[in-house]
Amino acid sequence: MAEIDTDAHFDIAICGGGLVGLTLANALGRSNFKIAVIDGQARPTFSEQKAPKQKAAEYQAVTLDGCKLASGFAPRVSAINVASMKILENIGVWQDIKRMLAFKQMSVRDTSGSANIKFSAEDIQLDSLGYIVENREILVALANKLKTHENISVFWDTKLNGIDDTPQTTDTAQATDKTHTYRLSIGNQTIYCDLLVGADGGNSRVRELSGIKTLRWSYDQEALVTTIKTEYPHEKIARQWFTSEGPLAFLPLAEPNLCSIVWSLNDVSEHKASNLREFCARLTEASEGELGNIIGADQRFSFPLTQQHAFSYVKENLALIGDAAHTIHPLAGQGANLGFADASALASELMQAKFSEKGIGDLALLRRYELARKPHNLLMTSVMEALKRLYTSGDPGINWIRNTAMKIANDNDLLKNMMARLASGL
Ligand SMILES: Cc1cc2nc3c(=O)[nH]c(=O)nc-3n(C[C@H](O)[C@H](O)[C@H](O)COP(=O)(O)OP(=O)(O)OC[C@H]3O[C@@H](n4cnc5c(N)ncnc54)[C@H](O)[C@@H]3O)c2cc1C
Repeated sequence: MAEIDTDAHFDIAICGGGLVGLTLANALGRSNFKIAVIDGQARPTFSEQKAPKQKAAEYQAVTLDGCKLASGFAPRVSAINVASMKILENIGVWQDIKRMLAFKQMSVRDTSGSANIKFSAEDIQLDSLGYIVENREILVALANKLKTHENISVFWDTKLNGIDDTPQTTDTAQATDKTHTYRLSIGNQTIYCDLLVGADGGNSRVRELSGIKTLRWSYDQEALVTTIKTEYPHEKIARQWFTSEGPLAFLPLAEPNLCSIVWSLNDVSEHKASNLREFCARLTEASEGELGNIIGADQRFSFPLTQQHAFSYVKENLALIGDAAHTIHPLAGQGANLGFADASALASELMQAKFSEKGIGDLALLRRYELARKPHNLLMTSVMEALKRLYTSGDPGINWIRNTAMKIANDNDLLKNMMARLASGL
């Protein structure tokens, strides 16, 4: 076996420089671990509008019919709850996020009846329930912060191609000890690590190469996302309508008449193909004119929606976090929030490992991370599944139960406060 270039040896390799992988890397920024972050895409910047991965031909040409909007807001935004905000604050990243909106209230309406639930931050003595932030804003802040940590090397534009977990040694002549656990083929080079973290999203290559299976099903729905301009200001309220076609969310942006929308639909093609005036009219109708007419929209993008959960988040010397471990329906905007909490939990276990004789790949240590996160993530997955089924049912009996339950919940302060706490993640 050839001698290993020790420069290419890392304690931890994090595959995936998305929201979750970069959060873990920054959380370990003050450790003594030597860390590699590997991402197949270029370093996120503000100059490059990170377009969703989609074939160019599928993008809809925006027609100039009076509704064209060039909002300057990126199409992908996330509702970040208070718990995630604190995680980002602790790693010194939240302070660097330039543009966001703190939302004070949430309103949920069932358009097949008259039920409505409203809950607010004030009810639970908070300033806000969460924040609407463009993903790009968070990614840029996370990537910039990484540069301040000398123990972290980042390989942008570099894909993980393969992994080999047969024991690797540093010196063929003498060493017989197992010193490096994984050999990673990344781009056109090789690196070594003791712990491999898969933070590489829903189609995780790390998960696939390590043979971890998932329970997976498609919702047969796609999410249509864009930025819209409304006649009336949003007043810092995040709104959701459960329409017969699927849940529609208006997430308030840092401009009073701009919202980012996520509309989960069985068939997005019709809405993507419609001209802008028609699209805006449909949105006005689906949102029951609550913010007046929709008077403009940006380019429309869509994302397939699947639910999946890895049977195991860990193996010896390997852990999965974020979407690599679980993806859920975006109807309650929780996917990234669960991922931030994963990153934080794994980081705190790894920091403890500094004081343990056992290495960072120790299965018992990694299982503690799994135990800290899996029950909560599974619970959230089940709640999303139940909500999705409840709100897409055409059964009049179920519609009646749903409406009645919403009315009862809206009249019950205790229940509303519980929902507000759930939304804030606290
Ligand atoms: C329409 C929509 C709306 C959403 N809204 C919300 C919301 O409001 N709030 C919320 O909390 N969540 C929301 N989510 C969920 C959230 O976007 C995801 O949970 C989150 O982005 C997952 O982050 P991640 O870092 O785990 O994965 P990703 O963001 O998928 O990042 C994975 C990274 O790994 C890299 N990668 C992949 N394969 C390789 C490879 N082989 N080699 C190297 N690099 C690789 C990719 O380039 C990417 O940068 C929404 C999701 C959708 C679809």
